[in-house]
Amino acid sequence: MMPLGSAPAALILFGPPGSGKGTQAKLLRECLSVPHISTGDMLREHIHAGDALGKEVQGLMQAGQLVPDDLVNRLVAERIDRPDCARGFILDGYPRTLQQASVLEKMLQERKLDQVVVHLEVDYNVIIARLTGRRQCPVCGTLYSLTSRPPKAPGVCDLDGAKLVVRDDDRESVIRQRLEAYERQTRPLLDHFAASGHRFYQVDASHDSPQQILHKICRFLKNGA
Ligand code: AMP
Repeated sequence: MMPLGSAPAALILFGPPGSGKGTQAKLLRECLSVPHISTGDMLREHIHAGDALGKEVQGLMQAGQLVPDDLVNRLVAERIDRPDCARGFILDGYPRTLQQASVLEKMLQERKLDQVVVHLEVDYNVIIARLTGRRQCPVCGTLYSLTSRPPKAPGVCDLDGAKLVVRDDDRESVIRQRLEAYERQTRPLLDHFAASGHRFYQVDASHDSPQQILHKICRFLKNGA
């Protein structure tokens, strides 16, 4: 296992929708042996379960808007208190607002966890092509891309044969809303991270393969460069 640093740490994967946060989080989970926490996945599970929280967030998510800060902060606080997070964890899609970033900062201080931020930088046109070509297995969650990682048989998951689906919010009009929310509410966090004094790494994630990007991130985590 590769350590996240000398002390347990939260690895924040930061970037716009379609920058490959989910893909990198899944790869990093294997080599770091720490849990992958995706607030988007957690929210989708609530929608799938049809519970009160799911009903509260469904409309906002389908419109490509962020859900309330307090709600995601609570979900994350509960999740990181589980024993499997004691040695660190990977955050994918959180924090997304300055309010979330400052709540997270406090949560990590209280739990004596460091924070490391990796920013996946991607060209706008690459993002659009990726998001419109993204397909997911509704059973095992595996992600496919019609351009860079198509399934062996069209429309079917390689692992379990389930029919692949397009996420509700990967439709073109919603994609525009999500990118707009990113620009307005989330991108400003970059200045906050850069000024925070925590370890911060920018990686060009437009053209390299997921394995090449993983390699760069692992090198940074190991050597800090
Ligand atoms: P993602 O899977 O990370 O792209 O998230 C999908 C959607 O879930 C977003 O467009 C938001 O509606 C919601 N969401 C996920 N994470 C957050 C967050 N940290 N803050 C607010 N909304 C979120």
